Amino acid sequence: MPVGEQRSMVARMAIKTWENPLAGPPSSTAPDAYEDKHSHRLVFYYKVAALLIMAMGLFWAAIFAGWHQWSVVIADLALAGLAAMGWLLIASGQLNAAMIVTQVALLVFAVSYALMFDAPNAEFPRIVHLYLLVLAMLGYINHLRRKSKFQLAITAACLCAFVVLSCTSYAFPFAQTIPDGIRSVGIWINGVLATAMMWGGIYTIQREFTRPKGLALELRNAVGNEEMELYYQPQVNQAGTIHGAEALLRWRHPQHGLIPPNDFIPLAEEAGLMPLLGGWVLQEACRTLAAWRHDPVLGKLTLAVNVSASQFQVEDFESSVLELIKMHQVNPARLKLELTESVIVHDLAPTVARIENLRAIGITFALDDFGTGYSSLSYLRKLPLDQLKIDRSFVQESLECDRGAALVKSIIQLGIDLGFVVLAEGIETDAQHAFLIDCGCHEFQGYLFGRPMPGDAFTDHVRQAVMAAPTPPRVGSLHAALMVRAKRAKTA
Ligand code: C2E
Ligand code: MG
Ligand code: MG
Repeated sequence: MPVGEQRSMVARMAIKTWENPLAGPPSSTAPDAYEDKHSHRLVFYYKVAALLIMAMGLFWAAIFAGWHQWSVVIADLALAGLAAMGWLLIASGQLNAAMIVTQVALLVFAVSYALMFDAPNAEFPRIVHLYLLVLAMLGYINHLRRKSKFQLAITAACLCAFVVLSCTSYAFPFAQTIPDGIRSVGIWINGVLATAMMWGGIYTIQREFTRPKGLALELRNAVGNEEMELYYQPQVNQAGTIHGAEALLRWRHPQHGLIPPNDFIPLAEEAGLMPLLGGWVLQEACRTLAAWRHDPVLGKLTLAVNVSASQFQVEDFESSVLELIKMHQVNPARLKLELTESVIVHDLAPTVARIENLRAIGITFALDDFGTGYSSLSYLRKLPLDQLKIDRSFVQESLECDRGAALVKSIIQLGIDLGFVVLAEGIETDAQHAFLIDCGCHEFQGYLFGRPMPGDAFTDHVRQAVMAAPTPPRVGSLHAALMVRAKRAKTA
């Protein structure tokens, strides 16, 4: 695996631990991934907590043994045993089972202990019930980790028990209250321990579940800090000639390296940062087109820019595009805007008007990831588009089963009949390419023709393809050119 890709994977993994469970339920497609996000550190905290409880149980058992309080010793040993069982369950990977068993057992234990050994008297208040607050917090943390009615119920039960035990001096009729000599010390030790555990819970929530705010902040500053980059992926026509590129956003995070868009765009959407990021992408794309303008090879390429629905709906989107084109003296025909089906969530009429206004000056429009969104075909008739981009999931399935092949064939035919230029994304093999050509697909994009690459690498790539192309040189015929080079190398 190339080093860049490895770094990107590491960054992806690192950043995934920051996703925000407070933001809503996990996606139905990735419950395990969702569950894993916080588990690593939380498992560590839970194991430490189990060991602490075990140590506490053994410590008190030893103290009470010295006072010949055998029933309390048995209770404290039971607590240590319970903590040991919880530790074993967590260590064996059964986090959820460990949580359910230990939380219920600890709730029963704390209430029973309070009623049996810890009835308040004129001198000493009850203390053990403070641990119910810790248990309630544990339930809430677990609920944040993974939404659960059980965790909410256990949290509510702990809080109710805490209130009742705080406000009353209830005790079992057969209670054996701990001697005052030990209680005078115990209230301090338990008070400090329970407070420390509460603080640990607050720290855990803050550290594990509020981090995305920090990330959103970093994301907002990333543009100003020049951490955003555009990568370019070639798009080729039926002759194998590169006729354009898609600009794809990357975040070069100072600590986590290169982060791919799928790992930060959802957060940017959620934080309302897409107009900011998208604005930067458009500006950078126009700069690139301006830099390519006078180049005999690059000047003929189109550049496709992804525009999110939230960015497209911003009031001044149209005027800002016009302004950028004017400022950088870009030929609008070289700029293609890629929209996804999510734009139709919004009012269709203003969307259509906006597309038409921008098309009027020569900008073209593509519908990205076709078939993966809202699946209403009526908008194909209503949206004034130039290009249909078939999502790579369809391309990948096209050779896996007859239905996959039939689907791709039908989509391409539909696009052709409706007068669109049809581009297939995510082509990785010659077989996929050949099949798509047979189906009449017009344009192609995928690793087979080139991965997304930084601007300099992309221009080198295009020039190299032109140099390798048979005379007369065509504009960056990468695929054909590389084949020619391979043939030359073979015959040499
Ligand atoms: P997209 O617009 O559909 O872009 C194509 C994605 O497919 C890119 O992922 C590209 O690297 C990947 N890809 C291309 N060919 C192949 C292939 O042969 N095999 C495989 N497995 N993947 C291939 P990338 O760059 O990670 O971008 C993911 C998505 O992030 C994009 O999907 C687009 O929806 C979004 N995105 C990227 N840049 C921007 C941006 O500037 N603005 C907005 N709004 N969205 C962006
Ligand atoms: Mg795209
Ligand atoms: Mg796409």
